[in-house]
Amino acid sequence: MNQFQYIQPAKQKAAIDALTKDAKAMFIAGGTNLLDLMKRGLAAPEKLVDINKLPLKKIEFNNNGLRIGALALNSEVAQDKLVREKQPLLVQALEAGASGQLRNMATMGGNILQRTRCPYFYDIALPCNKREPGSGCGALAGFNRMHAIFGFSDKCIAVHPSDMSVALAALDATVVVAGPQGERQILFTDLHRLPGDQPEKDTILERNELILAIDIPDKPFAQKVHYLKARDRASYAFALVSVAAALATDKNIITAARIAMGGVAHKPWRLFEAEKFLEGKPVSEANFRSAAELAMQGAKAFNHNAYKLKLAPNSIAAALKAAAGIA
Ligand code: SF4
Repeated sequence: MNQFQYIQPAKQKAAIDALTKDAKAMFIAGGTNLLDLMKRGLAAPEKLVDINKLPLKKIEFNNNGLRIGALALNSEVAQDKLVREKQPLLVQALEAGASGQLRNMATMGGNILQRTRCPYFYDIALPCNKREPGSGCGALAGFNRMHAIFGFSDKCIAVHPSDMSVALAALDATVVVAGPQGERQILFTDLHRLPGDQPEKDTILERNELILAIDIPDKPFAQKVHYLKARDRASYAFALVSVAAALATDKNIITAARIAMGGVAHKPWRLFEAEKFLEGKPVSEANFRSAAELAMQGAKAFNHNAYKLKLAPNSIAAALKAAAGIA
């Protein structure tokens, strides 16, 4: 590991200024991903700006819904009594992610910004456009069992790894960020990017922008929910496919639907067409199956991940059934 400086500013402005002035500085919070990246030679910051002294840990409810500070720990949020009552989908997704030990260290902001677990990205002997732009994509013709079926490019076919982000995409969340020009709000579904020609960029954030909080609006679909995660083993494994499903119903008619998938694209993959299809229709397995088929339009598999073309629609239908209580 390279030598680096370490500072722990107590003010938000000082933290942002530190990154603005120093192109080789990086924020660190829980460090559950960044320290791995540094140890493996994938990140080499010359200065670590530890943001743990900033007052960004609050979990609070206001007239619009839930606001979670970026430094709240994943385990604190998942155990919070009001979060469990008001946003069970978020809790299910948090509890499906990582191990208990990691959830005790990982912050909400860090969870959102964790980097792909594509094995070629983590092996510095192998080509990877995300790690080293222009070097090629080892996964394209390599072992791509875990990789994308939607939204990929010929530069990168990696998937976003966070379970929590899939739930936040489904729940119409927004993130509040601050940079040198002040604060801005970003729809969660707009935060992460598709790879295109710049797979090295995971999000639309500038490198000196800091996530302050996540807002989750209070919506009628927040209670009939289910997070389904298909994975190789029961814990501490990334999703092969995951589905966050949320429904609002009135006398067995679906009045609102929100669905997002993980493990299938470079960002949490929201199923807007399937949601539109379901709205106004009766709750039924047949309608959930049709929505799942609709959601799969445009999917394309690589050498080793064709199983996702079946696993994904089956998971969508199963998650919707469970959310509706007809599983
Ligand atoms: Fe790198 Fe993306 Fe290709 Fe994986 S899929 S090797 S992260 S460019």
